[in-house]
Amino acid sequence: MSDTKYALVLNSGSSSIKFQVLDPAADSTEPPFVSGIVEKIGEPKGHIKIQTETSKMEDTRPLLSHSVGLERAFGMMSLLGVGPQDLDLVAVGHRVVHGGPTFSGPVVIDDKVVEDIRDLIPLAPLHNPAHIDGIENARALLPGVPHVAVFDTSFFSTLPDKAAFYALDKDVATEHNIRRYGFHGTSHEYISAQVPGLLGKEPEDVNQITLHLGNGASAAAVRGGVAVDTSMGLTPLAGLVMGTRCGDIDPSIIFHLKRSAGMGVDDIDNLLNRKSGLKGLSGVNDFRELKEMIDNGDENAKLAYDVYIYQLRRFVGSYMLNLGRLDAISFTAGVGENAAQVRADAMAGLENFGIVMDAERNANRDVDGPFEISASDSAVKVFVVPTNEELAIARYAVKLAEQE
Ligand code: ADP
Repeated sequence: MSDTKYALVLNSGSSSIKFQVLDPAADSTEPPFVSGIVEKIGEPKGHIKIQTETSKMEDTRPLLSHSVGLERAFGMMSLLGVGPQDLDLVAVGHRVVHGGPTFSGPVVIDDKVVEDIRDLIPLAPLHNPAHIDGIENARALLPGVPHVAVFDTSFFSTLPDKAAFYALDKDVATEHNIRRYGFHGTSHEYISAQVPGLLGKEPEDVNQITLHLGNGASAAAVRGGVAVDTSMGLTPLAGLVMGTRCGDIDPSIIFHLKRSAGMGVDDIDNLLNRKSGLKGLSGVNDFRELKEMIDNGDENAKLAYDVYIYQLRRFVGSYMLNLGRLDAISFTAGVGENAAQVRADAMAGLENFGIVMDAERNANRDVDGPFEISASDSAVKVFVVPTNEELAIARYAVKLAEQE
């Protein structure tokens, strides 16, 4: 093996485990050294896929549990000569969705950290149990390597009270840890950290908006490198219209559905998280399919698109106003990086606010790294900045492991 020091990044969900082995010092456009997925856990046929630049391996034997899946995946990696034991693994980074009020930055995992993540389960009942499973299994399989938890929420622990508080009974909110936490923080931090360099300015001099538009979507306002507002809230359901999530709605809709439609809480939860957003309005959640439907004259698809763009502009507008002076807006993630039409429509007609797009630059598809899509004379610069959450997690994991 080479001298490269690798980090393993694990994203353990309720029905799948995704992972990558990366060189944290690598350029963000380099593919990971190894990537893999363990899915269909508990189903008659499991699925594990491991991929390196030169090889690929799949396994469809049943997977009784997450731990069986992870152990088998590590075994398959060894067969390909890239097992965790074969590599000089410096750290294992774990993506954790909810750090609640407890974690304002990444931490090296010990038993106390696992318990603290467990205590936050009420705030993230679907995500945190799966993360704990992943952390415990990985710690058992790789006991000699520091494990680091990187939280989706921690970049937003700096939100000022006026942005973080909901106008609810303060005692009830405090008792139940209800506040705006924000999510996709690793991505917003990673993107926003690159923008000052693109502008040739110091981070403390830059006011910016970052738009993470993937299946989940969120907006953030960042002043001088510090997050000051974001669209997601107590959970990742709030804010922008997403693939299957509704984003901001009148909370009374929930009572109305219960009282008038006789729906239970779980049904409503399912409706708002999985059957709403673009999918709810049009039947599809994938932007490429949505575009095809619009091109074929589907009115529901057009409505879904219009609602999506309108809601996005609402957030951009409010952040522009609250930031006072805006230097840059960046688009990232699957939709933000690839859907030029979304970027054009989100930024259309904003010349009076100093935002002038360049249609040719915006249509450019041949760039790997960040690129500008605004006109040279635009007072506010608009960029596409590809995100790489795994790389960001790997870098944190190695940084903290080396401080151990
Ligand atoms: P997540 O990580 O939240 O699952 P991604 O960041 O991978 O999501 O983004 C997924 C979304 O990106 C999907 O809605 C998909 O349609 C959209 N997407 C991916 N490629 C393109 C493309 N070339 N044009 C338009 N949308 C795209």
